Amino acid sequence: MKLAAKLVSIVILGLIAILVIDGYLSVERDVEIFEAGMKSDAHLFGSAMAGLVSLARQSGDASLIRRLISEADRGPRQLRIRLVRLNALPGDPDAPGVTGADLAPLLKGQELSLKERDREGHLRLYTYVPVPGDGTADTALEISESLSGLEKRTRDAWIGIFILTGTLAAVSGLAAVLLGFVMVGRPLHRLIEKVRRVGKGDLTGPLDAGGGDEFSELAGALNAMCEHLDEARRAVRTETEARIEAMEQLRHADRLKTVGGLASGIAHELGTPLNVVSGRAALIASGKLPEEEIAGSAAVIKAQTDRITTIIRQLLDFARRNTPRKTAVDLGRIVDRTLELMAPLARERGVGIRRVGETAPVPAMADGGQIEQALTNLIVNAVQAMPGGGGIEVGIRHEHVRPPAGHGSGTGKHACIDVVDEGEGISDKDMERLFEPFFTTKDVGKGTGLGLSIAYGIVEEHGGWIGVTSEKGKGSRFTIYLPEEGG
Ligand code: ADP
Repeated sequence: MKLAAKLVSIVILGLIAILVIDGYLSVERDVEIFEAGMKSDAHLFGSAMAGLVSLARQSGDASLIRRLISEADRGPRQLRIRLVRLNALPGDPDAPGVTGADLAPLLKGQELSLKERDREGHLRLYTYVPVPGDGTADTALEISESLSGLEKRTRDAWIGIFILTGTLAAVSGLAAVLLGFVMVGRPLHRLIEKVRRVGKGDLTGPLDAGGGDEFSELAGALNAMCEHLDEARRAVRTETEARIEAMEQLRHADRLKTVGGLASGIAHELGTPLNVVSGRAALIASGKLPEEEIAGSAAVIKAQTDRITTIIRQLLDFARRNTPRKTAVDLGRIVDRTLELMAPLARERGVGIRRVGETAPVPAMADGGQIEQALTNLIVNAVQAMPGGGGIEVGIRHEHVRPPAGHGSGTGKHACIDVVDEGEGISDKDMERLFEPFFTTKDVGKGTGLGLSIAYGIVEEHGGWIGVTSEKGKGSRFTIYLPEEGG
């Protein structure tokens, strides 16, 4: 129920209760006063008549008593007077009109007033006055008066109360409904509308705070709150824009740094073999080179151009990283195939590769060729990290893990391909730059610094990442994390 309707209902119910209680009390009071008056009149009349009957009795004239009574009884129909014998049996014409009540106090000479219905069912007030001087004290005067007038008066009073209560309730109810709507319902509705708009983020359109009551105070407070919220929102927006701008600047600077690093990496990587090629070619072109050295120089030129070709191919791989063509593959099979391919190279360097952990199929949606390439790069690094030989363990397992920042949110199931070596390990300083293109700690000609960045790019394209842990002098663990379907 709406608040205004509730208030109106409470007010009207309260009003009705007050009016009915007040009406009841005043009717009861009226009845009491009226009855007291009737009793007093009957008492006075009865006492006078009892005196007269006593005198007539003393004169010994029985007919005088009868005449006296019938004269007195000739008055208004509502008032009857009779001489009754208290010990007369019911049905006796001289028996008292009241049958159910105890009339014993009359025998002791006391008066008695009682209300009882007569044979026709009308309520009457019976007053009994003992007749003095009789000796037997069993006769009394019975004065009875009909109370139907009083009953009608009471009924009329109640009808009046109901009409008054109904009219007052209707009028005050109507007034309360109108006032409730104007003073409570309407301002409350506007406040609710405003709060809803604020909830949806619309802080405009301040509420009209007229009226000077609590509602207008609330509207004022709401307007002030909206202003503060708006100010805070503007401040947050300005701050966010400033932060985005700062981040953009940082990213720009970072991009410039990367491009610079890339350019100097390319210059360095290609500069050395090109110098060699150009020097050897110049020597051949000069014609001063003895016949037998020309073939040697040509072989050097061939080796250096091969190196340049490798670098350019890797650069192209890095730059033209294609969107993976994902198909349903078994990661276990990919690992096995890669190990087969890598085994001869590893053996040559005195390194043994062991497949560990789960060998059951690990189904995944992935570009098999690309994953193979990423895994190859990790294994080549592991082999190169153990110049004196050693062992590499490669295995697949499953892990519920939370991705690092920038790789989605929420813990999920991942297929993890571990490559663990017993090599030289990685220093904390190098760890920071590990995946940077052209970052290498290897001698010139041995490393291009592109293997890890290519591997990382591939894994990232598959929605995963590469994790590294390493201990200097003990070895490193590289893990490819790939999200599993339904994980
Ligand atoms: P490259 O192997 O041509 O140097 P990568 O990008 O593959 O380029 O590797 C970058 C560097 O990371 C390596 O030069 C090496 O210092 C370090 N690194 C990579 N894998 C390992 C490993 N398993 N153990 C120790 N160092 C490693």
